[in-house]
This record gives sequence, C-alpha cells and structure tokens, in this order.
Amino acid sequence: MKTDPITSMVSRNLCTGCGACAGAFPTAIRMMEDPVNGRRPVVEQSNAGRMASQAATAVCAGANTDWSDLDITDQTDADWGPILAVWEGWAADPEIRYKGSSGGAVTALAHFALRTGMVDGVAHVAAREDDPRLNRAVISRDRASLLQGTGSRYAQASPAETLGQIAAESDPVAFIGKPCDVASVRRAVRATPDLATKIPLTIAIFCAGAPNLAATEQLLDRLEVPKDGKLIDLRYRGKGWPGLMQAVWRDADGTEHTSKGLSYAQGWGDILQGERRWRCRICADHTGALADISVGDPWHAAPDGDQDPGRSLIVARTPRGKAMIEAAIRAGALVAEPRARTTLEAAQPNLKNTHAAVWGRTVAMRVAGLKAPQLNGRHLFAQWRELPFKQKLQSVMGTWKRILRDRLWRRVFISGAGQ
Ligand SMILES: Cc1cc2nc3c(=O)[nH]c(=O)nc-3n(C[C@H](O)[C@H](O)[C@H](O)COP(=O)(O)OP(=O)(O)OC[C@H]3O[C@@H](n4cnc5c(N)ncnc54)[C@H](O)[C@@H]3O)c2cc1C
Ligand code: SF4
Ligand code: SF4
Repeated sequence: MKTDPITSMVSRNLCTGCGACAGAFPTAIRMMEDPVNGRRPVVEQSNAGRMASQAATAVCAGANTDWSDLDITDQTDADWGPILAVWEGWAADPEIRYKGSSGGAVTALAHFALRTGMVDGVAHVAAREDDPRLNRAVISRDRASLLQGTGSRYAQASPAETLGQIAAESDPVAFIGKPCDVASVRRAVRATPDLATKIPLTIAIFCAGAPNLAATEQLLDRLEVPKDGKLIDLRYRGKGWPGLMQAVWRDADGTEHTSKGLSYAQGWGDILQGERRWRCRICADHTGALADISVGDPWHAAPDGDQDPGRSLIVARTPRGKAMIEAAIRAGALVAEPRARTTLEAAQPNLKNTHAAVWGRTVAMRVAGLKAPQLNGRHLFAQWRELPFKQKLQSVMGTWKRILRDRLWRRVFISGAGQ
C-alpha cells in the first residue's frame, strides 16, 4: 500500500517535528518522542488516517517553504529574509530578562501582546513538569505561565501542535516557535484564512538546529545526574546570558540536589550540536524570515561571562512586527536601541554560510536520488557561488559522505509507532 504523505515526510528525513499536522488532525495523527529521530508524527493506519495525512500536507512546511511573496528589497533581505529594522535590547521586567534565554525579548513582547489585549493567549513550549527532558506545547494566558517557557529548550519540541486548539477557539493567539515551526503556521494560515485573524503575531527564535533526546541524556550524564534520580528541572539557557546548563533532581530519600553548571559553549559545542537531525542541516532559514518578529543572540556584543544580565537581537520582519516592537519600546516593556540592518550578519557570522551551503547539500541529495525540500523564492545558488571553493566542495562531498555514513536513503521509522 502507498505510504501516506506525512509518514513519507518522516521516513525521508524531511520532517522538522513542528507538530502542525498532529495539531490540525489530532484524532488521526499524534506526535511521538523518538529519542534518536526526534519528536515526530505517527499517522493512524486507517482510511481516516490517510485522509487526514493528505489534508495535513496543507499545513506542513517540512518539504516546502515559500519566500516568493516576501518583500525582498536588497541583498541583506535576500540573504536573511525581510529585515525592516533591528534593535538590541532586553525585557524591562528584570525577572523576564534574567530568566530569558538571551535578554528575554521574546517573553517581554509576548507579555506585552497579552497585556495590551492584542492577543488572549500565547502558543509556545515549556518543559514538561513530569519529565523536564521533554517539552509540551501550551497556550499561556498570563505572565506566570509565560515565564515557565523562558530559556531556550535545546531539545525536541513541537509548538505548532497548538494549531488545533487555536483553530477551535475564538481567541486571538500569538505564536512563538523556531523558524520551521513558524513556517508551518504560516502555511496553515494561508490554507485556512480564518486562522489569519486568530494568529495576529508570530515570533521566531533563531535556531541553528534542534538536538534530540539522546543529546539531552548525554547532557544529564555530563551534569552527573544519577540515572535513578528523579529529574525536577533542566535548564539549557537563561538565568543570565547565555546562562548555565544545569539540572535539579531528587534522590530516593527525597533530598533535592542541584547539578554542577556547564557553560553554553561546552554544552552546545561538545554535546548538543552533534545530535542535530539531518533535516536541520538542510534548513535554509535559521533566523525566522517568515515571522513578524525574530529574536536571537547578539553574539557580536560578547556576553560578560556566563551570567551577563542579558541582551537580545530583535528583528522586525513585517510592518505589524515593527509596529509591535516600537509600541513595546514606547510603553517601556522593552528596553532597546536601534541597530543597523547589517547587525544580523555581525551577530550570527556562521549562519549566512550555513544557509549558502544548503544549495550544495540539496543538489548533492537530489543527485543521490534523495528528496530535498523545495525552497520557492529562496535564491541560494547566488549565495553558494560566493562561498570559498573549499566550502563549496565540502557542501557537496560532505553530503555524499554523510549519506553513506548515516545511510540516509534508509526509511526512518519512529520507535513505538506501531503501538
Ligand atoms: C534549538 C535551538 C537553537 C538555537 N540556535 C540559536 C542560534 O543559532 N543563534 C541564536 O542567536 N540563538 C539560538 N537559539 C537561542 C534563541 O534564539 C535565543 O534564545 C533568542 O534570543 C530568544 O531569547 P529570549 O531571551 O528573547 O527568549 P525567551 O524570553 O527566553 O523566550 C524563549 C521562547 O522560545 C520558546 N522556545 C524555547 N525552546 C524552544 C524550542 N525548542 N522550540 C520552540 N520554541 C522554543 C519558549 O517557549 C519561549 O517562549 C537557539 C534556541 C534553540 C531552542
Ligand atoms: S507538519 Fe511538521 S511535524 Fe508534521 S510532517 Fe510536516 S514538518 Fe513534520
Ligand atoms: S535548524 Fe531549521 S529545521 Fe532545524 S529545528 Fe531549527 S529551524 Fe527547524
């Protein structure tokens, strides 16, 4: 029997794990935690499941993103997606700034949208209370709930799973997610015009790649959390910028312990980044071009140690995103100063070449007979041509090596999918 399209997305390494398909069709598609392949959808094997899977392709940006109607005015926009304006700043609320991943700008903007009545809820992710290695998609309605999501979760997470709830309710909701999560939400909004009024604001966090559960397990080993300890909290970022990776666990006697802290540079560099999925290596948007606002680290303004008070780089992608940021600054919710549009490139020096290499990687995949994402309106060839010769070669040869090493032609099966 022919494989349904969503299962095929997963099996061909094209799924990003955003959760939009399961959110839109929760009775037929559910997300499962596969420790190696990530949080991925599993489709009920029935006629209803196949029909839902077919319909879910309308909300899935895993194999297809569209930049063709973005307002690209110059080379900076062509490289990074529309940049109307850039600021460097932080949440005026000191607790949000402290707990935030960079400067808490995402949470400050979301809280401002709630307070001003622009939205009644904010869709985002937070650590699961019963198992902080994993994440849940939530719709927060107040500051306390928003605060639970502060700090980047370098782990599998599917915020677009909230789509079903957003569609079912009448309240307008702001959506926060990685660039790929926002890309699927944008596709869903186009497929269902009613959603456009229900999601008046999208905020993307910059993202170099999402590590899997196996990476979190390695991190816990490095933090020396005993296997029989009950994990109560696990932070990857925040509590200062960039903050320490740190866990809290309870032993058999009920005594709480705080693990040692690992720096972001060590945790990301030595452990987490090695476990990013292949889909992240062919991701052509690490900075949220399709959102209204995107936020990342201003790495060019090097943090003062691991626990600097915190700064965010805030990028307006659309006129409504720009208006929102300006209103938040005027109202004193965000403390921020304008920066040149080119600051994005200075802040994220590696990401431009990472985007450019995707052209070589996807060509190498197609030559090898593998499916690669369609990037409509994203003209990466010109950027690839600008790469130094060695990197051009590496983008193609490295991909073929990776295909052989990881046997990327083999179908991906999600553990527990048959249950
Ligand atoms: C997997 C991953 C990779 C990253 N790569 C980069 C990078 O290459 N460059 C860079 O500058 N920054 C990167 N970041 C960090 C992120 O872009 C910054 O933390 C950003 O500046 C937001 O900071 P903030 O203090 O404004 O956010 P906060 O106020 O702390 O809010 C963070 C928001 O992000 C949401 N969130 C956290 N983790 C996830 C997740 N896994 N999936 C979806 N939503 C999530 C939370 O729900 C919360 O609403 C990455 C983060 C993650 C999770
Ligand atoms: S909608 Fe998201 S989770 Fe579902 S198949 Fe597409 S990329 Fe994967
Ligand atoms: S690298 Fe791209 S595909 Fe991977 S999680 Fe980040 S935004 Fe999604």
